[in-house]
Amino acid sequence: MRKITIVGAGRVGESTAHNLAKSELCREVMLIDVVDGMPQGTALDIQESAPQFGFDTKLHGDNDPEAMADSDMVIITAGLPRKPGMSRSDVLETNLGIINGVVDVLVTAAPDAMVLMVTNPVDVLTYAVWKRTGWERSRVFGMAGVLDSSRMASFIAMETGFSVKDITAMVMGGHGDTMVPMTRFTCINGIHIKHFLPDEKIQEIVERTRQGGAEILALKKNSSAYDAPAAAVAAMVGAISHDRKRILPCVAGLEGEYGETDICMGVPVVLGSNGVERVIELPLFEEEDKQFRDSIATIRADLQKLRQFDIAAS
Ligand code: NAD
Repeated sequence: MRKITIVGAGRVGESTAHNLAKSELCREVMLIDVVDGMPQGTALDIQESAPQFGFDTKLHGDNDPEAMADSDMVIITAGLPRKPGMSRSDVLETNLGIINGVVDVLVTAAPDAMVLMVTNPVDVLTYAVWKRTGWERSRVFGMAGVLDSSRMASFIAMETGFSVKDITAMVMGGHGDTMVPMTRFTCINGIHIKHFLPDEKIQEIVERTRQGGAEILALKKNSSAYDAPAAAVAAMVGAISHDRKRILPCVAGLEGEYGETDICMGVPVVLGSNGVERVIELPLFEEEDKQFRDSIATIRADLQKLRQFDIAAS
């Protein structure tokens, strides 16, 4: 890709910019933020690390959202993170206002871009961007499942002592307490984790995964997680820029898959140069299906709030 813009040069935005540059996933990274001088300073700071890491990606910062012009991809990390004790849904109204403003510039400044949503609540806000742009679902998607799966794989590595390189985990559903860690597909080099861990330990890992973001927030207090989220975003960008056709759990619009329409949520997709190239529909076992439906109900409750906020604002 030629140009990737990151709107929101806060913690996730900064760490994402550094990851994209270090991996040379595009020729230019543009950082945009409302705070005067901040995106410019952040871009310069990362640029000055180039001789150490040996990358030629150019970084720029701007306060004008129009600086996203002609981007191949726009990553949206602008908005409030939650504070300890808050749920991701608690920041919906504020972040919706911010995101709507960003999208109104995006549709004219970068009409051919893909959009990768990060701002929470990410399932609902990905839906908001999808609908407000009117673009096809292949180029409007969100990051959650790659992070949640990465957390789950990390916990399994910590528990078993085996290399993370051999661990595959997959988390579906919404990015919240009702996410669905799919233990059925969780293996260590093809060997099911049940071979290594008792059921109670696996269940503990599932619960810890569900609370993964809250655990970090409770420890750090003044910041939510950003290094693992930024690494997850970079993995998704890498799949697209190298047209890898990776199967990754992403927040995607459903058009009949899993019997659902008019919703965005975490499902396995094929990610390649055309963005979300296919949604993979897995047959779910009864308990998985129940958890998946609970997750849908939670997201639909937030979608209802989203419509009310949009009506109130119009
Ligand atoms: P942060 O506060 O460090 O950064 C947010 C930045 O957005 C700030 O610098 C702020 O000035 C900027 N901003 C606000 N309004 C803006 C606008 N209109 N245009 C441009 N910039 C604007 O927060 P963070 O820790 O980087 O988190 C960012 C978002 O990402 C939060 O909503 C957080 O919950 C979310 N997040 C999502 C995931 C996920 O898995 N999807 C993971 C981590 C964080």
